[in-house]
Amino acid sequence: ANQFGMKEALAQLGIKDINEGTSTGLNHFSNGEILESYSPVDGQLIAKVKTSTAADYEKVMQSATEAFKTFRLMPAPQRGEIVRQFGEKLRENKDALGKLVSYEMGKSLQEGYGEVQEMIDICDFAVGLSRQLHGLTMHSERPQHRMYEQYHPLGVVGIISAFNFPVAVWAWNTALAWIAGDVCVWKPSEKTPLCGIACQNIIAEVIKENNLPEGISCLINGDYKVGEMMTNDKRVPLISATGSTRMGKIVAQTVAGRLGRSLLELGGNNAIIVTPDADIKMTVIGAVFGAVGTAGQRCTSTRRLIIHESIYDTVKDAVVAAYKQLSIGNPLDENNHVGPLIDTHAVEMYNRALTKVVEQGGKILVEGGVLSGEGYESGCYVKPAIAEADNSFEIVQHETFAPVLYLLKYSGTVENALDVQNGVAQGLSSAIMTNNLREAEHFLSVAGSDCGIANVNIGTSGAEIGGAFGGEKETGGGRESGSDAWKVYMRRQTNTINYGTSLPLAQGIKFDL
Ligand code: NAD
Repeated sequence: ANQFGMKEALAQLGIKDINEGTSTGLNHFSNGEILESYSPVDGQLIAKVKTSTAADYEKVMQSATEAFKTFRLMPAPQRGEIVRQFGEKLRENKDALGKLVSYEMGKSLQEGYGEVQEMIDICDFAVGLSRQLHGLTMHSERPQHRMYEQYHPLGVVGIISAFNFPVAVWAWNTALAWIAGDVCVWKPSEKTPLCGIACQNIIAEVIKENNLPEGISCLINGDYKVGEMMTNDKRVPLISATGSTRMGKIVAQTVAGRLGRSLLELGGNNAIIVTPDADIKMTVIGAVFGAVGTAGQRCTSTRRLIIHESIYDTVKDAVVAAYKQLSIGNPLDENNHVGPLIDTHAVEMYNRALTKVVEQGGKILVEGGVLSGEGYESGCYVKPAIAEADNSFEIVQHETFAPVLYLLKYSGTVENALDVQNGVAQGLSSAIMTNNLREAEHFLSVAGSDCGIANVNIGTSGAEIGGAFGGEKETGGGRESGSDAWKVYMRRQTNTINYGTSLPLAQGIKFDL
């Protein structure tokens, strides 16, 4: 496993043969079964992780709830200073952590570094925000009264994350939660547990150097059963869950059952509309990167291209030609465009989608297939595929987390393309390629895209941390990262103060004694 300096990277991040760490790393109390993490890059065992038992979880919650009592008293800009130091540590570890992300998850090294950069960026954002947790002041209807609102931290924030962004999603949540005064308990994906250990080791250093309570950041490991301990726990007022719609429906109902708050970031079924006025060169770059980047394992990956009939053949030929240029292989080698899928189960889902699209009447334009032989020993490398399909196909309605792109044709106006684009259950990311102002504005209007993200002349994939990130419908409705997403990590309190000598009631109600 020591290609590309991986051994040194693992040592730098404190990854051992067997890792534990339910709290910040000062106290270890993982006593559960062993989880083995295999790399999809070369099929090798990277290291083992001890999972958390119910008793371990209980200790974690005690540590977290205790830490909250002191952390909430620290002034927000001082909490911002802690997040600033965390950002500095991430800069020092960017190379090693980016490599681990690439090796454990399988995304390209550039994207691994990009994920760590996103963590650094959200830290910078949060530092500034720590002085801007503003509430409004309102004019009271009563004389000599003042009314205003303030934001207080919630308490313990539970974070459940998916394998495909194994480190950035945690930071999107924690950087904001920490400046808000919350403490965090994280259950990373059981497919990428070492990324969790590495992040926890980095923040543990910052916490230790500042003599803060270790429960500010806790890590629990294991599968959905460990996640369920948190979703059922009344001591966790907010659950931020990223993953499949299937998972989100279960988590949402469990958390709602105890009237907790949930922030859901679930699956997408993202489309690019290509109108007759599209710039074809830009369209091809956006579509191909969107469909094959991270081997189609981004929540914002492009799944559908909705192309006007007048340019259909031109776009189809250009995209098919671009697929011929793709090189598939070790993602740590920057000459490759496409790395592996996360595991062989994902490969099965990919194969299933290709069989189904043909069964349901589609036509394969670029053949798929699983690669074997030297360099492909993990069995997780697949060829990006393209199929001509119809939006009504059950398989097209479904998110397949793999590089399968569906080409759909529309005729007439952009309204028809929007019916297709909005005609799915998910509502995460969407895009239109056009130089026609009327079409672009219609796409962004109330009658346009129904997604949380709507781009013009940009693909569906990827987003900046400055905006609020998330989607509608079965994507879950949550918003994370920039803009005013911080508000979900806090509770709002309306305060009215009477500085007069009588007690006038609201709405002019008289109550004389
Ligand atoms: P997944 O749903 O299988 O697992 C996600 C996490 O949820 C894991 O940590 C898992 O252990 C946990 N989990 C599963 N069932 C649970 C339950 N009943 N209770 C508590 N926790 C439970 O998803 P995955 O395969 O890791 O990730 C891929 C999916 O994530 C795709 O659908 C993708 O679109 C989505 N995703 C969405 C976003 C977004 O921001 N909208 C970002 C990344 C990934």
